[in-house]
Amino acid sequence: MTAQITSPEMLRHLVGFPTVSRVSNLDLIGFVEGYLGDLGVTSLRVADESGQKANLFATIGPAGRPGVCLSGHTDVVPVDGQAWSDDPFAVVGHDGRLYGRGTVDMKGFVATVLALVPEMLMAPLKTPIHLAFSYDEEVGCIGVRRLIAALPVRPAMCIVGEPTGMAPVIAHKGKRSYRVEVTGFACHSSQAPRGVNAVDYAAELVCHLRRLAATLRTEGPFDAGFDPPHSTVHAGVFTGGTALNIVPDHASLDWEIRHLPDHDPEPLVAEVERLVRAVLEPDMRAVAPGTGIRSTEIINYPGFAVPADAPVVALARTLSGANATSKVAYGTEAGLFQQAGIPTVVCGPGSIDQAHKPDEFIALDQIAACETFLRRLIRRLCE
Ligand SMILES: [Zn+2]
Repeated sequence: MTAQITSPEMLRHLVGFPTVSRVSNLDLIGFVEGYLGDLGVTSLRVADESGQKANLFATIGPAGRPGVCLSGHTDVVPVDGQAWSDDPFAVVGHDGRLYGRGTVDMKGFVATVLALVPEMLMAPLKTPIHLAFSYDEEVGCIGVRRLIAALPVRPAMCIVGEPTGMAPVIAHKGKRSYRVEVTGFACHSSQAPRGVNAVDYAAELVCHLRRLAATLRTEGPFDAGFDPPHSTVHAGVFTGGTALNIVPDHASLDWEIRHLPDHDPEPLVAEVERLVRAVLEPDMRAVAPGTGIRSTEIINYPGFAVPADAPVVALARTLSGANATSKVAYGTEAGLFQQAGIPTVVCGPGSIDQAHKPDEFIALDQIAACETFLRRLIRRLCE
């Protein structure tokens, strides 16, 4: 057996693989596979259709039994345009913190789990621990869907180690996002009525989204456990036009819904679609037939909610020592595990406040807290 590697050392290795979602994560997966292999643990690779990305699944302890799944994603968000004090892909440690891209979101959890694998192997586990590491979480929880579909055994429960300060999170919102491309008809702006102004029609949509957002804010549905306590609609990117003296024939709009876990976003999407098909497009085509509006989905992941009295929540509370549970606004893979019938809780080291930012860091005491959590889990699974 190889000498046990500490969690910060393992984190140093993982951060060194610049696994931004747009590039392959296979070097990291190969490293983890090799590390586990050296410890005598075989793992299952679940690749994407291009073969350039892969999930990894492994079981420690008795095989073929439900057990507890520890889940984390291996991809990180880009560093482009961010002002980092040091190389984001080389861990720098000072003041009790480890800095680097992915330290908190969420290689810190993955590293701690991996560093404790030798302890898992030495323990007489009666219930297995499954490791599930995914790709492309940051771009819409893509990879984990394949991983869940390929699971050789359905875990009895799952802990997703996204940063929660090691306190159990029992719900988060779901998200849908769309790109809308408006094709108008160009002409000289002095002849504006002869053209179809793509920016105008995209703006009609923006105004409609604003009204939807206001309705959700005032009429709900509400869940006081969330901040804000209702679903939200937001237009984030708007482009269109090339010169003031040309009626623009193209505009594009990215918008999203972040919905409460038990609030179905489908009627909202249908309402936007109805406005496009029944009002805007006929209006545009009355002037120029080739015009129209095309919408494509960018991201779609479900909301997440596990009953506060579920055994997985009780387990996470016991292991973390945290009494309170909370609901958060950001998304994770938890909703997909839960949807697959695997009771799930989100509980991991570090604070989401540091995620996706320049000089992202994880505090060493959070890694220590995660180690304590995992050691308690190991002991419990020997009972
Ligand atoms: Zn994350």
